[in-house]
Amino acid sequence: MTWDFSTEPEFQEKLDWVDRFCQDEVEPLEYVFPHAVRSRDPKIKALVKGLQDQVKAQGLWALFLDQDLGGPGLGQLKLGLINEILGRYPSAPQIFGTAAPDTGTMEMLAAYGTEEQKKRWLQPLMDQEIFSAYSMTEPQGGSDPNLFRTHAQRDGDEWVITGEKWFTSAGRVADILFVMCTNGMFVVPRETPGVNIQPEPRNHNHIIYDEVRVPLDHLLGPEDGAKVLAQRRLGGGRIHHAMRTIAQCKLAFDMMCERALSRESHGKIIGEHQMVQEKIAESYAQIRMLRLFVLETAWKIDNTSTQEARTDIAAVKYTMAKVLRDVSFNALHIMGSLGTTNLTPLQAMYAAAPTMGIADGVDEVHKATVARNVLKGYRPHQGYWPTEYFPAKREAARAKFEPLFEADPELRAMAEGYAKYLAKRA
Ligand SMILES: Cc1cc2nc3c(=O)[nH]c(=O)nc-3n(C[C@H](O)[C@H](O)[C@H](O)COP(=O)(O)OP(=O)(O)OC[C@H]3O[C@@H](n4cnc5c(N)ncnc54)[C@H](O)[C@@H]3O)c2cc1C
Repeated sequence: MTWDFSTEPEFQEKLDWVDRFCQDEVEPLEYVFPHAVRSRDPKIKALVKGLQDQVKAQGLWALFLDQDLGGPGLGQLKLGLINEILGRYPSAPQIFGTAAPDTGTMEMLAAYGTEEQKKRWLQPLMDQEIFSAYSMTEPQGGSDPNLFRTHAQRDGDEWVITGEKWFTSAGRVADILFVMCTNGMFVVPRETPGVNIQPEPRNHNHIIYDEVRVPLDHLLGPEDGAKVLAQRRLGGGRIHHAMRTIAQCKLAFDMMCERALSRESHGKIIGEHQMVQEKIAESYAQIRMLRLFVLETAWKIDNTSTQEARTDIAAVKYTMAKVLRDVSFNALHIMGSLGTTNLTPLQAMYAAAPTMGIADGVDEVHKATVARNVLKGYRPHQGYWPTEYFPAKREAARAKFEPLFEADPELRAMAEGYAKYLAKRA
């Protein structure tokens, strides 16, 4: 029987190191040089590299990749425990080599790339010498991949890609774009002629692929295999977001509790008002539930596969968005006017909650998936009555006891007494 919520002491030491390192090194860098992790300036890059080297020395680099794919093979549960620290610091995922969208694209490359493709793109991505972006969603609709139209046409020893993509995160600063076409997943260097990045939106880019030509070996995985590759990418990505969301919720909760003890109103510390206590108690329970759900799902992935755990991954996805929404709202509210400003992390965190319910697939689609998968484990009842219909259950139970009643009429009389009593009560 192994049903244990404790952490091995050796791994706890690693977690303590991560916690201290993020507080002492990662956070100060963020405040002095915002977005340092994406800077191309050699001096700032050297600061980032110094931190990344410390992470590598701890054996904690590119944690999300299994050993057979070139990572340390910690597994999702341990990654979850680390991510629930990293998620508190915006640049920590990059410092640990585990930032989206590169994690997802690296996972696809590691799983489906040829040796040549891995050498060309996976290694430089792992070393953060280059960055990637993922071009899947199209302007006419994102939730339904059957609506996607971007297509690659073979022309001699080249593929010619034509189409339009919407909300490619960090496309503008990526070196390579993973473009989902109706007939396969393609790797397109951003500088290729015909890649036209529109001026708006700034961070999640609208890209027109206008007869973009790439060599044949830029097809990743099999022809027509884009949907399978996309699932591989998104499955991992969703659970990683959820792990980091726990960290965000905990940050909001810490801020809520500190404030509840620090402000006074109507003759009391606000933490003594019952409606404030309710927000704290509800938030506490929601975070605990989310954390257990995320870690159990991570454990399931480790012990089965992403595919086997897909129902729980989908359920975690919409649950984390809801918990983040509720907890950040409670924290913002308890913070009062200050909570509505951009002088604390709360306003951005609250604004991020609906985003969490849309990015990597909208809540509604995940809920439909969960309901469909769950219903596969059930069958309709026969006849008019549900399985738990009391009269039918009593009748079946009495039939089971019949041999005993045959042998003992007194027992039968007692059972009939109970039956009469129940009939009177109904
Ligand atoms: C922060 C962020 C980053 C992103 N990064 C990327 C990226 O890097 N690459 C990329 O390709 N895409 C990216 N996306 C896009 C994302 O994948 C899409 O926004 C998402 O798939 C939804 O597509 P849509 O925006 O076209 O909404 P739509 O598909 O138009 O859906 C809009 C609404 O319609 C309703 N709806 C849709 N389908 C159903 C259904 N089946 N049942 C019930 N209701 C439904 C829901 O209310 C839904 O919110 C990102 C999105 C965000 C918010």
